[in-house]
Amino acid sequence: MAIKINDIPPEGLTVTLADKLDLFDEGTADTPFTAQVTVKAEGAGIFHVNGTVEATASLECSRCLKRFTFPIKEAAMDFDLVPEGARKLSAEHELGRSELDTEFYRGGEIEPKEFIREQLLLTIPMVPVHSPDCKGLCPVCGGDRNERDCDCRTELPEGAASPFAALKTIIKPEKE
Ligand SMILES: [Zn+2]
Ligand SMILES: [Zn+2]
Repeated sequence: MAIKINDIPPEGLTVTLADKLDLFDEGTADTPFTAQVTVKAEGAGIFHVNGTVEATASLECSRCLKRFTFPIKEAAMDFDLVPEGARKLSAEHELGRSELDTEFYRGGEIEPKEFIREQLLLTIPMVPVHSPDCKGLCPVCGGDRNERDCDCRTELPEGAASPFAALKTIIKPEKE
């Protein structure tokens, strides 16, 4: 699926891709995507890429930890593709150009999956929720409050400091 740089004509090359990729580096390429990509040489080894990508990502709800499907519809791509060796150079000379507008490639080939993955990651919410009104897990019993209401007391009377409050903050991150 890699595009050879020497195969890119002066007027640019447009390719349509349909494949799967490993979105979160989990060892399985389970995110299907389709993309339409146009690559055009801008000189000095830099290529301009634009196009659109659609994908179906599987995300974990940050509140209840449930896996849910997150469709990405026609996300626009528009950035420069710069040779890896120029990374340092561009960082030093970069003026007003955001990091998000630049992707990198190595050697004589461009691997679209690499920049498509990066672009998809940019469209995914930082704190994904499976539904805007997800009730999350009970911090006391760990039960899924979307499925059933438990009777746990999670609100302390005003002014009362729970002796377990500190303990809870220590335990909590391990559940994630
Ligand atoms: Zn949820
Ligand atoms: Zn509970």
